[in-house]
Amino acid sequence: MAKIGFIGLGNMGGPMARNLVKAGHALKVFDLSKEAVAGLVEAGATAVPTAADAAKGVEFVVTMLPAGEHVRSVYLGEGGLLAAADEGTVFIDSSTIDVPTAREVIAAAVAAGMSMLDAPVSGGVGGAEAGTLTFMVGGEEEAFAKALPIIERMGKNIFHAGAAGTGQVAKVCNNMILGISMIAVSEAFALGEKLGLDAQKLFDISSTASGQCWSLTSYCPVPGPVPTSPANRDYKPGFTAGMMLKDLRLAQDASRTARVPTPLGAHAAQVYALMEALGHDAIDFSGVIKLIKGQI
Ligand code: NAD
Repeated sequence: MAKIGFIGLGNMGGPMARNLVKAGHALKVFDLSKEAVAGLVEAGATAVPTAADAAKGVEFVVTMLPAGEHVRSVYLGEGGLLAAADEGTVFIDSSTIDVPTAREVIAAAVAAGMSMLDAPVSGGVGGAEAGTLTFMVGGEEEAFAKALPIIERMGKNIFHAGAAGTGQVAKVCNNMILGISMIAVSEAFALGEKLGLDAQKLFDISSTASGQCWSLTSYCPVPGPVPTSPANRDYKPGFTAGMMLKDLRLAQDASRTARVPTPLGAHAAQVYALMEALGHDAIDFSGVIKLIKGQI
């Protein structure tokens, strides 16, 4: 069993770390929240006083932090992980962050004699708890092979996307598809309803016709057709509109840097920004249909 440091024990990191403890690994954990740490200690992990302590004397370090600035400061800042870890340590950063920061931190890790993977996930808190997350992993093949047995305890579909940063690229591209398609499906249901078409009928038709997509068939934004979708629990998340906005903004940053036009991605970001401005960023992102129907 491996010695693992785990930093960032929030909604996602908490259950991911718990799955590693359950698999018999020895975990040293750190989070700024004492409550989050206490939950993991109860599950069998060992609390350490700083992030750097979690990276000392371990083979792997997993980080699950909010955004790029947190990742940069935890890895590169004063008392950072790279200065504390042993040579040969494999870092797995599962936070969703911007591509340039991911590449910068990975390059610094490699220069310090360690390896590092960007390994963002999709599947939400439910997937983190069940250990069924999808991992999109960028970085060297050898590091990926070493990390795979650890990642397999937290996820089900695990992809090596390519070189450093491509895990984050896959994540923002995927979520740009999702953000746009959810708005498209919501517009269609709002229009169909206004014109007298029953929502279930539209679902039955479109889910077997060319409008078929995940936002429709797995996460339908109207109550009824997909019993597990957040629409059936008044848009309790799930995946919040605020998180979708974060990912769409990352996609927009990436598209500006790469000089690739993504007009619908830009428009989708503005639609979720409107939800945020109206104070509804904490509901599920499929609640965008309420905005379209003029209900929020
Ligand atoms: P969260 O806010 O619940 O957890 C983040 C944790 O990091 C918190 O416990 C916080 O105290 C801790 N933290 C922040 N700065 C720290 C520091 N300097 N040192 C130690 N701990 C620190 O967020 P989350 O929902 O767990 O999301 C984490 C990442 O996963 C984000 O990048 C998010 O975009 C991504 N993500 C989230 C979901 C989801 O559904 N929640 C799904 C996929 C990806």
